[in-house]
Amino acid sequence: SPDQTHTFDAVVIGGGQAGLACGYYLRRAKLDYIILDDQDEPGGAWRHTWPSLRLFSPASFASLPGWFMPEYDSGGFPPREHVLDYLRRYEHRYQLPVRRPVTAHSVSSDASGFAVETSGGIFQGRTIISATGTWRQPHCPTYPGLADFSGRHIHSAHYTGPDSFVGQRVAVVGGGNSGAQIAAELAPLTTLSWLTSRPPRYLPDDVDGRILFQVATEYARNVTAGRPAGNKITDLGDIVAVPEVRKARDAGILVAEPMFERITADGAAWADGTTRAFDTIIWCTGFRPAVGPLKDLHLRTIDGHIATHGTQAAADSRVFLVGYGDWTGPASATLLGVGRTARDTVAAIQRYLGA
Ligand code: FAD
Repeated sequence: SPDQTHTFDAVVIGGGQAGLACGYYLRRAKLDYIILDDQDEPGGAWRHTWPSLRLFSPASFASLPGWFMPEYDSGGFPPREHVLDYLRRYEHRYQLPVRRPVTAHSVSSDASGFAVETSGGIFQGRTIISATGTWRQPHCPTYPGLADFSGRHIHSAHYTGPDSFVGQRVAVVGGGNSGAQIAAELAPLTTLSWLTSRPPRYLPDDVDGRILFQVATEYARNVTAGRPAGNKITDLGDIVAVPEVRKARDAGILVAEPMFERITADGAAWADGTTRAFDTIIWCTGFRPAVGPLKDLHLRTIDGHIATHGTQAAADSRVFLVGYGDWTGPASATLLGVGRTARDTVAAIQRYLGA
Protein backbone atom coordinates (compact mmCIF):
# COMPACT_ATOMS: atom_id res chain seq x y z
CA SER A 1 0.00 0.00 0.00
CA PRO A 2 1.19 3.55 -0.73
CA ASP A 3 3.09 5.78 1.65
CA GLN A 4 0.51 8.36 2.67
CA THR A 5 3.14 10.97 3.45
CA HIS A 6 4.57 10.84 -0.06
CA THR A 7 3.37 13.16 -2.82
CA PHE A 8 4.28 12.29 -6.43
CA ASP A 9 4.92 14.97 -9.03
CA ALA A 10 2.37 13.16 -11.18
CA VAL A 11 -0.07 10.31 -10.68
CA VAL A 12 -1.02 8.67 -13.99
CA ILE A 13 -4.34 6.83 -14.01
CA GLY A 14 -4.33 4.11 -16.70
CA GLY A 15 -1.44 1.95 -17.91
CA GLY A 16 -2.35 1.43 -21.56
CA GLN A 17 -0.33 2.91 -24.41
CA ALA A 18 -1.21 6.50 -23.41
CA GLY A 19 -0.10 5.98 -19.81
CA LEU A 20 3.15 4.36 -20.99
CA ALA A 21 3.91 7.18 -23.44
CA CYS A 22 3.47 9.67 -20.58
CA GLY A 23 5.69 7.46 -18.41
CA TYR A 24 8.41 7.62 -21.04
CA TYR A 25 8.54 11.43 -20.92
CA LEU A 26 8.05 11.67 -17.16
CA ARG A 27 11.01 9.37 -16.72
CA ARG A 28 13.12 11.38 -19.15
CA ALA A 29 12.24 14.55 -17.22
CA LYS A 30 13.36 12.74 -14.03
CA LEU A 31 10.04 13.41 -12.36
CA ASP A 32 8.69 11.38 -9.46
CA TYR A 33 5.60 9.57 -10.75
CA ILE A 34 3.52 6.41 -10.64
CA ILE A 35 1.17 4.74 -13.09
CA LEU A 36 -1.96 3.02 -11.75
CA ASP A 37 -3.65 0.39 -13.93
CA ASP A 38 -6.62 -1.81 -13.16
CA GLN A 39 -5.56 -4.70 -15.42
CA ASP A 40 -3.69 -7.83 -14.31
CA GLU A 41 -1.23 -7.59 -17.20
CA PRO A 42 0.25 -4.94 -19.53
CA GLY A 43 -1.57 -3.99 -22.73
CA GLY A 44 -4.62 -1.88 -21.83
CA ALA A 45 -7.50 -2.21 -24.27
CA TRP A 46 -5.46 -4.40 -26.62
CA ARG A 47 -5.95 -7.26 -24.15
CA HIS A 48 -9.66 -7.17 -24.87
CA THR A 49 -9.90 -6.75 -28.63
CA TRP A 50 -11.01 -9.71 -30.71
CA PRO A 51 -8.31 -12.23 -31.65
CA SER A 52 -8.39 -11.63 -35.42
CA LEU A 53 -7.81 -7.87 -35.08
CA ARG A 54 -4.79 -6.52 -36.90
CA LEU A 55 -3.30 -3.05 -36.85
CA PHE A 56 -4.20 -0.90 -39.83
CA SER A 57 -0.54 0.00 -40.44
CA PRO A 58 2.89 -1.66 -40.43
CA ALA A 59 4.72 -1.86 -37.09
CA SER A 60 6.94 1.15 -37.81
CA PHE A 61 3.81 3.32 -37.91
CA ALA A 62 2.59 2.00 -34.59
CA SER A 63 5.45 2.93 -32.28
CA LEU A 64 5.50 4.69 -28.96
CA PRO A 65 8.24 7.26 -28.23
CA GLY A 66 11.82 6.06 -27.91
CA TRP A 67 11.64 2.51 -29.22
CA PHE A 68 10.24 1.28 -32.52
CA MET A 69 7.78 -1.58 -32.51
CA PRO A 70 9.73 -4.57 -33.91
CA GLU A 71 8.85 -5.31 -37.50
CA TYR A 72 6.22 -7.97 -38.06
CA ASP A 73 6.43 -10.46 -40.92
CA SER A 74 8.62 -8.19 -43.11
CA GLY A 75 6.40 -5.13 -43.22
CA GLY A 76 3.01 -6.78 -42.62
CA PHE A 77 0.27 -5.41 -40.39
CA PRO A 78 0.81 -6.87 -36.90
CA PRO A 79 -1.84 -8.86 -35.04
CA ARG A 80 -2.92 -8.06 -31.52
CA GLU A 81 -0.38 -10.43 -29.87
CA HIS A 82 2.45 -8.47 -31.45
CA VAL A 83 1.11 -5.24 -29.94
CA LEU A 84 0.66 -6.85 -26.52
CA ASP A 85 4.20 -8.18 -26.61
CA TYR A 86 5.52 -4.75 -27.59
CA LEU A 87 3.68 -2.94 -24.78
CA ARG A 88 4.92 -5.48 -22.24
CA ARG A 89 8.50 -5.11 -23.40
CA TYR A 90 8.20 -1.31 -23.60
CA GLU A 91 7.14 -1.14 -19.99
CA HIS A 92 10.04 -3.35 -18.97
CA ARG A 93 12.61 -1.59 -21.17
CA TYR A 94 11.99 1.79 -19.52
CA GLN A 95 11.24 0.26 -16.11
CA LEU A 96 8.02 2.22 -15.92
CA PRO A 97 6.57 2.14 -12.39
CA VAL A 98 3.18 0.61 -13.13
CA ARG A 99 1.15 -0.66 -10.18
CA ARG A 100 -1.48 -3.25 -11.11
CA PRO A 101 -4.10 -4.25 -10.57
CA VAL A 102 -5.05 -0.93 -8.96
CA THR A 103 -8.41 0.66 -9.76
CA ALA A 104 -8.76 4.41 -9.26
CA HIS A 105 -12.21 5.17 -7.86
CA SER A 106 -12.13 8.93 -7.34
CA VAL A 107 -9.87 11.96 -7.16
CA SER A 108 -10.18 14.86 -4.76
CA SER A 109 -8.19 18.07 -4.80
CA ASP A 110 -7.01 20.95 -2.67
CA ALA A 111 -4.53 23.76 -3.21
CA SER A 112 -1.50 21.51 -2.69
CA GLY A 113 -2.57 18.71 -5.00
CA PHE A 114 -4.65 15.59 -5.40
CA ALA A 115 -5.54 12.44 -3.53
CA VAL A 116 -6.43 9.46 -5.71
CA GLU A 117 -8.55 6.94 -3.89
CA THR A 118 -7.91 3.45 -5.25
CA SER A 119 -8.42 -0.23 -4.56
CA GLY A 120 -4.81 -0.16 -3.30
CA GLY A 121 -5.00 2.85 -0.99
CA ILE A 122 -4.61 6.59 -1.47
CA PHE A 123 -1.97 8.00 -3.84
CA GLN A 124 -1.11 11.69 -3.65
CA GLY A 125 0.09 13.80 -6.56
CA ARG A 126 0.76 17.42 -7.42
CA THR A 127 -0.63 16.77 -10.89
CA ILE A 128 -2.90 14.13 -12.42
CA ILE A 129 -2.75 12.53 -15.85
CA SER A 130 -5.94 10.71 -16.80
CA ALA A 131 -5.05 8.05 -19.40
CA THR A 132 -7.96 5.69 -18.80
CA GLY A 133 -8.90 5.19 -22.45
CA THR A 134 -12.38 4.36 -23.61
CA TRP A 135 -12.86 0.60 -23.63
CA ARG A 136 -14.17 0.62 -20.05
CA GLN A 137 -17.03 2.83 -21.29
CA PRO A 138 -18.72 1.08 -24.24
CA HIS A 139 -21.58 3.10 -25.67
CA CYS A 140 -24.88 1.53 -26.78
CA PRO A 141 -27.66 3.71 -28.17
CA THR A 142 -31.08 3.25 -26.59
CA TYR A 143 -33.81 1.79 -28.76
CA PRO A 144 -37.39 1.17 -27.69
CA GLY A 145 -38.12 -2.48 -27.01
CA LEU A 146 -34.64 -3.56 -26.00
CA ALA A 147 -35.77 -4.65 -22.55
CA ASP A 148 -38.14 -7.22 -24.13
CA PHE A 149 -35.62 -8.64 -26.61
CA SER A 150 -35.34 -12.38 -26.01
CA GLY A 151 -32.04 -12.77 -27.88
CA ARG A 152 -28.52 -11.93 -26.82
CA HIS A 153 -26.97 -8.53 -27.29
CA ILE A 154 -23.35 -7.55 -26.73
CA HIS A 155 -21.10 -4.58 -27.41
CA SER A 156 -18.09 -4.98 -29.71
CA ALA A 157 -15.95 -4.41 -26.59
CA HIS A 158 -16.95 -7.95 -25.59
CA TYR A 159 -16.77 -9.60 -29.02
CA THR A 160 -14.21 -12.39 -28.84
CA GLY A 161 -14.55 -13.90 -32.31
CA PRO A 162 -17.15 -15.64 -34.49
CA ASP A 163 -17.34 -19.08 -32.82
CA SER A 164 -20.45 -18.57 -30.71
CA PHE A 165 -22.44 -17.00 -33.58
CA VAL A 166 -22.01 -19.59 -36.35
CA GLY A 167 -25.33 -20.32 -38.05
CA GLN A 168 -27.20 -17.56 -36.18
CA ARG A 169 -29.20 -14.60 -37.43
CA VAL A 170 -26.97 -11.71 -36.36
CA ALA A 171 -27.45 -7.95 -36.56
CA VAL A 172 -24.19 -6.00 -36.52
CA VAL A 173 -25.04 -2.37 -35.76
CA GLY A 174 -22.60 0.40 -36.69
CA GLY A 175 -20.79 1.75 -39.74
CA GLY A 176 -17.32 2.36 -38.32
CA ASN A 177 -14.24 0.16 -38.32
CA SER A 178 -15.41 -2.23 -35.62
CA GLY A 179 -18.76 -2.72 -37.37
CA ALA A 180 -17.16 -3.31 -40.76
CA GLN A 181 -14.52 -5.69 -39.45
CA ILE A 182 -16.89 -7.75 -37.31
CA ALA A 183 -19.51 -7.84 -40.06
CA ALA A 184 -16.86 -8.97 -42.57
CA GLU A 185 -15.78 -11.74 -40.22
CA LEU A 186 -19.36 -12.94 -39.56
CA ALA A 187 -20.72 -12.55 -43.11
CA PRO A 188 -19.67 -16.00 -44.38
CA LEU A 189 -20.63 -17.78 -41.14
CA THR A 190 -24.01 -16.31 -40.18
CA THR A 191 -27.20 -14.88 -41.63
CA LEU A 192 -25.90 -11.36 -41.30
CA SER A 193 -27.66 -8.01 -41.27
CA TRP A 194 -25.20 -5.12 -41.21
CA LEU A 195 -27.14 -2.07 -40.10
CA THR A 196 -25.79 1.47 -40.31
CA SER A 197 -27.44 4.83 -39.70
CA ARG A 198 -25.99 6.16 -42.95
CA PRO A 199 -24.38 4.40 -45.93
CA PRO A 200 -20.88 3.18 -45.02
CA ARG A 201 -18.08 5.48 -46.16
CA TYR A 202 -14.95 3.56 -47.13
CA LEU A 203 -11.61 5.28 -47.27
CA PRO A 204 -9.88 4.69 -50.61
CA ASP A 205 -8.44 1.16 -50.74
CA ASP A 206 -4.85 2.40 -50.71
CA VAL A 207 -5.38 4.43 -47.51
CA ASP A 208 -4.12 2.73 -44.37
CA GLY A 209 -2.89 3.91 -40.99
CA ARG A 210 0.16 5.56 -42.53
CA ILE A 211 -1.86 8.04 -44.54
CA LEU A 212 -4.33 8.57 -41.71
CA PHE A 213 -1.45 9.57 -39.52
CA GLN A 214 -0.07 11.99 -42.10
CA VAL A 215 -3.49 13.60 -42.46
CA ALA A 216 -3.83 14.01 -38.70
CA THR A 217 -0.31 15.45 -38.43
CA GLU A 218 -0.91 17.95 -41.19
CA TYR A 219 -4.21 18.96 -39.65
CA ALA A 220 -2.51 19.54 -36.28
CA ARG A 221 0.31 21.57 -37.86
CA ASN A 222 -2.12 23.75 -39.75
CA VAL A 223 -4.23 24.41 -36.66
CA THR A 224 -1.12 25.25 -34.61
CA ALA A 225 0.19 27.56 -37.31
CA GLY A 226 -3.18 29.26 -37.73
CA ARG A 227 -3.50 28.07 -41.36
CA PRO A 228 -6.68 26.68 -42.91
CA ALA A 229 -7.02 23.31 -41.22
CA GLY A 230 -7.57 21.13 -44.29
CA ASN A 231 -9.04 17.64 -44.12
CA LYS A 232 -9.79 15.77 -40.95
CA ILE A 233 -9.64 11.99 -41.24
CA THR A 234 -13.39 11.84 -40.78
CA ASP A 235 -13.82 14.07 -43.84
CA LEU A 236 -12.21 11.35 -45.94
CA GLY A 237 -14.27 8.39 -44.76
CA ASP A 238 -14.93 6.17 -41.75
CA ILE A 239 -13.76 2.71 -42.68
CA VAL A 240 -10.22 1.59 -43.43
CA ALA A 241 -10.50 -1.04 -46.17
CA VAL A 242 -8.28 -3.59 -44.43
CA PRO A 243 -7.83 -6.79 -46.50
CA GLU A 244 -10.58 -8.77 -44.73
CA VAL A 245 -13.11 -5.96 -45.15
CA ARG A 246 -12.14 -5.36 -48.78
CA LYS A 247 -12.46 -9.07 -49.57
CA ALA A 248 -15.95 -9.38 -48.08
CA ARG A 249 -17.11 -6.13 -49.66
CA ASP A 250 -15.81 -7.08 -53.10
CA ALA A 251 -17.38 -10.55 -52.82
CA GLY A 252 -20.72 -8.82 -52.27
CA ILE A 253 -21.33 -10.35 -48.83
CA LEU A 254 -20.75 -7.13 -46.87
CA VAL A 255 -23.81 -5.06 -47.68
CA ALA A 256 -25.14 -2.39 -45.32
CA GLU A 257 -28.85 -1.77 -44.75
CA PRO A 258 -30.60 1.09 -42.92
CA MET A 259 -31.06 0.99 -39.15
CA PHE A 260 -34.20 -0.40 -37.59
CA GLU A 261 -36.58 1.83 -35.69
CA ARG A 262 -37.26 -0.35 -32.67
CA ILE A 263 -36.43 -3.71 -31.19
CA THR A 264 -39.06 -6.44 -30.84
CA ALA A 265 -39.20 -9.57 -28.68
CA ASP A 266 -37.50 -11.64 -31.40
CA GLY A 267 -35.73 -9.09 -33.58
CA ALA A 268 -36.33 -5.62 -34.92
CA ALA A 269 -38.86 -3.51 -36.83
CA TRP A 270 -38.34 -0.77 -39.42
CA ALA A 271 -40.35 2.39 -39.96
CA ASP A 272 -42.00 0.94 -43.09
CA GLY A 273 -43.42 -1.99 -41.10
CA THR A 274 -40.81 -4.59 -42.08
CA THR A 275 -39.68 -6.92 -39.29
CA ARG A 276 -36.78 -9.34 -39.08
CA ALA A 277 -35.80 -11.94 -36.48
CA PHE A 278 -32.37 -11.91 -34.84
CA ASP A 279 -30.69 -14.26 -32.40
CA THR A 280 -28.04 -11.71 -31.56
CA ILE A 281 -27.41 -7.98 -31.84
CA ILE A 282 -23.80 -6.80 -31.75
CA TRP A 283 -23.50 -3.09 -30.99
CA CYS A 284 -20.47 -1.60 -32.74
CA THR A 285 -21.48 1.84 -31.64
CA GLY A 286 -18.35 3.18 -30.11
CA PHE A 287 -16.97 4.22 -26.76
CA ARG A 288 -16.87 7.21 -24.45
CA PRO A 289 -13.92 8.47 -22.41
CA ALA A 290 -13.70 6.58 -19.10
CA VAL A 291 -13.35 9.71 -17.00
CA GLY A 292 -15.58 8.60 -14.11
CA PRO A 293 -12.76 8.83 -11.54
CA LEU A 294 -12.49 12.59 -12.20
CA LYS A 295 -16.12 13.36 -11.37
CA ASP A 296 -15.48 15.06 -8.01
CA LEU A 297 -13.15 17.55 -9.70
CA HIS A 298 -16.14 19.10 -11.49
CA LEU A 299 -14.33 19.58 -14.77
CA ARG A 300 -17.42 19.37 -16.94
CA THR A 301 -19.10 22.40 -18.37
CA ILE A 302 -22.87 22.71 -18.49
CA ASP A 303 -23.10 20.78 -21.77
CA GLY A 304 -21.42 17.79 -20.11
CA HIS A 305 -18.12 18.20 -21.93
CA ILE A 306 -14.71 18.54 -20.26
CA ALA A 307 -13.16 21.62 -21.85
CA THR A 308 -9.40 21.39 -22.45
CA HIS A 309 -6.54 23.47 -23.80
CA GLY A 310 -4.57 20.75 -25.53
CA THR A 311 -4.56 18.02 -22.89
CA GLN A 312 -4.92 20.42 -19.95
CA ALA A 313 -8.33 20.67 -18.29
CA ALA A 314 -9.67 24.20 -18.57
CA ALA A 315 -11.20 24.05 -15.09
CA ASP A 316 -8.02 22.85 -13.34
CA SER A 317 -4.64 23.37 -15.02
CA ARG A 318 -3.05 20.57 -12.96
CA VAL A 319 -5.24 17.89 -14.58
CA PHE A 320 -4.30 16.42 -17.98
CA LEU A 321 -6.27 14.09 -20.24
CA VAL A 322 -4.20 12.02 -22.65
CA GLY A 323 -5.10 9.47 -25.34
CA TYR A 324 -8.80 9.99 -25.89
CA GLY A 325 -8.60 11.00 -29.53
CA ASP A 326 -9.02 14.24 -31.41
CA TRP A 327 -10.70 15.80 -28.40
CA THR A 328 -7.34 16.02 -26.55
CA GLY A 329 -4.91 15.78 -29.47
CA PRO A 330 -5.01 14.72 -33.13
CA ALA A 331 -4.54 10.94 -33.51
CA SER A 332 -3.84 10.66 -29.77
CA ALA A 333 -5.89 7.45 -29.62
CA THR A 334 -3.30 5.71 -31.80
CA LEU A 335 0.02 4.15 -30.88
CA LEU A 336 2.03 6.54 -33.03
CA GLY A 337 -0.07 9.61 -32.37
CA VAL A 338 -0.13 9.56 -28.58
CA GLY A 339 3.61 10.28 -28.28
CA ARG A 340 3.27 13.88 -29.31
CA THR A 341 0.52 14.71 -26.83
CA ALA A 342 2.36 12.83 -24.07
CA ARG A 343 5.47 14.92 -24.74
CA ASP A 344 3.54 18.21 -24.67
CA THR A 345 1.74 17.14 -21.51
CA VAL A 346 4.93 16.39 -19.61
CA ALA A 347 6.43 19.69 -20.80
CA ALA A 348 3.40 21.49 -19.35
CA ILE A 349 3.76 19.54 -16.09
CA GLN A 350 7.42 20.55 -15.86
CA ARG A 351 6.45 24.19 -16.37
CA TYR A 352 3.83 23.94 -13.62
CA LEU A 353 6.19 22.22 -11.17
CA GLY A 354 9.00 24.65 -11.93
CA ALA A 355 6.85 27.72 -11.46
P1 FAD B 1 -6.41 1.87 -23.07
O1 FAD B 1 -5.61 0.98 -23.92
O2 FAD B 1 -7.84 1.56 -22.85
O3 FAD B 1 -5.66 1.96 -21.66
C1 FAD B 1 -6.26 2.53 -20.52
C2 FAD B 1 -5.95 1.67 -19.33
O4 FAD B 1 -6.48 2.29 -18.18
C3 FAD B 1 -6.60 0.29 -19.42
O5 FAD B 1 -5.71 -0.68 -18.95
C4 FAD B 1 -7.80 0.44 -18.51
O6 FAD B 1 -8.27 -0.79 -18.01
C5 FAD B 1 -7.23 1.34 -17.44
N1 FAD B 1 -8.21 2.03 -16.63
C6 FAD B 1 -9.40 2.57 -17.01
N2 FAD B 1 -10.03 3.11 -15.96
C7 FAD B 1 -9.22 2.93 -14.90
C8 FAD B 1 -9.30 3.27 -13.52
N3 FAD B 1 -10.37 3.93 -13.02
N4 FAD B 1 -8.27 2.93 -12.68
C9 FAD B 1 -7.20 2.28 -13.16
N5 FAD B 1 -7.06 1.94 -14.46
C10 FAD B 1 -8.06 2.25 -15.32
N6 FAD B 1 -4.65 2.28 -32.90
C11 FAD B 1 -3.59 2.22 -33.71
O7 FAD B 1 -2.61 2.93 -33.49
N7 FAD B 1 -3.56 1.36 -34.78
C12 FAD B 1 -4.60 0.52 -35.04
O8 FAD B 1 -4.55 -0.24 -36.01
C13 FAD B 1 -5.76 0.56 -34.17
N8 FAD B 1 -6.82 -0.26 -34.38
C14 FAD B 1 -7.88 -0.22 -33.53
C15 FAD B 1 -8.95 -1.08 -33.73
C16 FAD B 1 -10.05 -1.10 -32.87
C17 FAD B 1 -11.20 -2.02 -33.14
C18 FAD B 1 -10.06 -0.21 -31.77
C19 FAD B 1 -11.22 -0.20 -30.81
C20 FAD B 1 -8.98 0.66 -31.55
C21 FAD B 1 -7.89 0.66 -32.44
N9 FAD B 1 -6.82 1.53 -32.24
C22 FAD B 1 -5.74 1.47 -33.11
C23 FAD B 1 -6.92 2.63 -31.25
C24 FAD B 1 -6.08 2.66 -30.00
O9 FAD B 1 -4.80 2.19 -30.19
C25 FAD B 1 -6.72 2.05 -28.78
O10 FAD B 1 -8.00 2.53 -28.57
C26 FAD B 1 -5.83 2.25 -27.52
O11 FAD B 1 -6.04 1.13 -26.73
C27 FAD B 1 -6.04 3.50 -26.66
O12 FAD B 1 -5.02 3.54 -25.67
P2 FAD B 1 -5.18 4.20 -24.24
O13 FAD B 1 -3.91 3.97 -23.52
O14 FAD B 1 -5.67 5.58 -24.41
O15 FAD B 1 -6.37 3.41 -23.58
